[in-house]
Amino acid sequence: MAEPRPVIELTPPDISGWRAGNTGIDYVTRIDSLSPGPNVVVTAAVHGNELCGVIALDFLRREAIRPTRGTLTLVVCNYAAYLSFDRSNPYPSRFVDEDFNRVWSHAVLDSARRTVETVRAREIRPIVAAADFLLDIHSMQNISAPLMLCGPHEKGRRFALEVGFPAHVVSDAGHAAGQRMRDYGAFGDPAMPQNALLVECGQHWEARSADVARETLLRFLDAVGVLAAKDRDRFLDPAPPPKPRVIEVTEAVTIRTEQFRFHSDFVGLEVIAKRGTEIGRDGDRPLLTPYDDCVLIMPTRRLKPGQTAVRLGRFVGA
Ligand SMILES: [Zn+2]
Repeated sequence: MAEPRPVIELTPPDISGWRAGNTGIDYVTRIDSLSPGPNVVVTAAVHGNELCGVIALDFLRREAIRPTRGTLTLVVCNYAAYLSFDRSNPYPSRFVDEDFNRVWSHAVLDSARRTVETVRAREIRPIVAAADFLLDIHSMQNISAPLMLCGPHEKGRRFALEVGFPAHVVSDAGHAAGQRMRDYGAFGDPAMPQNALLVECGQHWEARSADVARETLLRFLDAVGVLAAKDRDRFLDPAPPPKPRVIEVTEAVTIRTEQFRFHSDFVGLEVIAKRGTEIGRDGDRPLLTPYDDCVLIMPTRRLKPGQTAVRLGRFVGA
């Protein structure tokens, strides 16, 4: 599959004024309610070419939305990649040296590996480690319905359903290529109360992804009990959104060869009715659906060995 010709409906906000922040860490700003409550953290631009999260943070700042309890910390994660965004060639600004969202294990962060992304991850690690609740805002390559990725544990599923938006919740364990920020430390421990969500708001540069990012952020702040009633009334429809459905991922298909291909231009959320349907090939190896009504999650266009090609899952519950 070739990369689609990008149509860029969004404009990346100017974040030069955000650099100094107030935490001693560049592009990290903390809003303190001065009342006891949770440490809530919202992260954007983990991938530098994903604009909707920064737009949601910009909205929060412009509208002076403050937490009613605890603290709210806003982080532009991979700002070096974000600042390299080029409308005429928007794909390379995903990262500088490596994928920021594959370095979040103690093994990598405590190692000598020195890349733009590991250096930055180490800078914001104390913020992530101290978060009670984290929302990490992303977007996708394909035009497809937004997804809330809640991790493999019951606590994440419950949290995603409490936020209640967007309407598809994906329960998955991440990637063979390295651990995500949302799975770091206590977030990945089912016995700990800390909880993290990763939202995929739609295609990277479609205008709607910014609307989804804003609504997800507001509903997330509401779910953790820090959104002021006046802000809820100003920005959220009082009618609850449709009840989300959970898709449980049973496997992430990791690409083994340079000859990986899909048989169709899948964009995600396709449901393949019959078990054993061949949906692609990795070299000589057919990729077969393992059960009836198999849901395809986020098929990639970056078909490189070691990367996740697609996740396979099924709808659970009512
Ligand atoms: Zn992303």
